[in-house]
Amino acid sequence: MPFGNTHNQLKMNFTAEQEYPDLSQHSNHMAKVLTLEMYANLRDKQTSSGFTVDDVIQTGVDNPGHPFIMTVGCVAGDEETYEVFKDLLDPIIEDRHGGYKPTDKHKTDLNPDNLQGGDDLDPNYVLSSRVRTGRSIRGFCLPPHCSRGERRAIEGLSVEALGVLDGDLKGKYYALKDMTEEEQQQLIDDHFLFDKPVSPLLLASGMARDWPDGRGIWHNDNKTFLVWVNEEDHLRVISMQKGGNMKEVFNRFCTGLTKIEELFKEKGHEFMWNEHLGYVLTCPSNLGTGLRGGVHVKLPNLSKHEKFGEVLKRLRLQKRGTGGVDTAAVGGVFDISNADRLGFSEVELVQMVVDGVKLLIEMEKRLEAGQSINDLMPEQK
Ligand code: ADP
Ligand code: MG
Repeated sequence: MPFGNTHNQLKMNFTAEQEYPDLSQHSNHMAKVLTLEMYANLRDKQTSSGFTVDDVIQTGVDNPGHPFIMTVGCVAGDEETYEVFKDLLDPIIEDRHGGYKPTDKHKTDLNPDNLQGGDDLDPNYVLSSRVRTGRSIRGFCLPPHCSRGERRAIEGLSVEALGVLDGDLKGKYYALKDMTEEEQQQLIDDHFLFDKPVSPLLLASGMARDWPDGRGIWHNDNKTFLVWVNEEDHLRVISMQKGGNMKEVFNRFCTGLTKIEELFKEKGHEFMWNEHLGYVLTCPSNLGTGLRGGVHVKLPNLSKHEKFGEVLKRLRLQKRGTGGVDTAAVGGVFDISNADRLGFSEVELVQMVVDGVKLLIEMEKRLEAGQSINDLMPEQK
């Protein structure tokens, strides 16, 4: 598994045919979209930091598929990637984000008052609630391509900015390299910290280079507001707590995130954003809001039902195991979250989770009582 990216100008001595990857076993979005002609047109282009089309697609070449989700199969190395390689990325974005067109404009709504309900997800079923997003700092390369110096600079900026948060949000930064193995594992097991660099997606994209240098987690005292530094994105901002009060989680998420953006601005740093793509992040699947709102929820009966997949699809929800994207569900407990990131506002996505999870729980209760769920089947959202 490569740990670096593929800068190599000598490859231009070979033809596009000779360099073209074997995608015959692949089922990711990139493999669906990429053609030899497209590759031939793009292969001598690079962004001003030197990111090439081979760097964009390497993770998708090395990971033909994924056991649980349909992966995108490519990453951005910097903000310009989406512009320079748009012949490839625009159709991938369209495919991944339900027909989102190159001319479409993204909408942002981080006003938690616009969320209807969400404070009453049944805690007998919902074990915990969480909302996360990513943010990238303009002017720096993204994790697949950033240098050690850039990564450390981002860490430094983050520690400085987050250090100003106060009240409920007051917290501390813990660098990975200063943690003991036990401390790190405990944070992972408690679902607060990103996994070690074991994910093939992370490894093949070059994001695990120099691990654990420059990586860490900042969190408030009761671990309800957390920021991951230099994992898959420069920043991952997370609000979470036990139980089913998604409203409270989303409130804290919006307040904290808005403050962080202000703090970075005060230091002269903007987040990568544009009208079309919304917030620009490493993985094209996370463009737009970058928001994944989800719950860990017990669905032992519904998850065995033949309509489970169809119900999730119609509600625009995605399932994962509770140990993260690379894990299978155990004991009928799932991570259920919004499938979309782009083309819907933050509030709309969390609303889909709140309404959808309520219905899933209602279905679960029906099945528990040995009753039918046929009349509860939702329309396609
Ligand atoms: P992401 O990258 O979207 O944040 P992952 O699937 O990689 O999510 O999971 C990262 C970590 O977050 C894992 O430890 C996972 O268990 C935890 N997590 C995700 N959703 C929840 C939730 N609703 N409640 C508690 N922990 C969660
Ligand atoms: Mg992840």
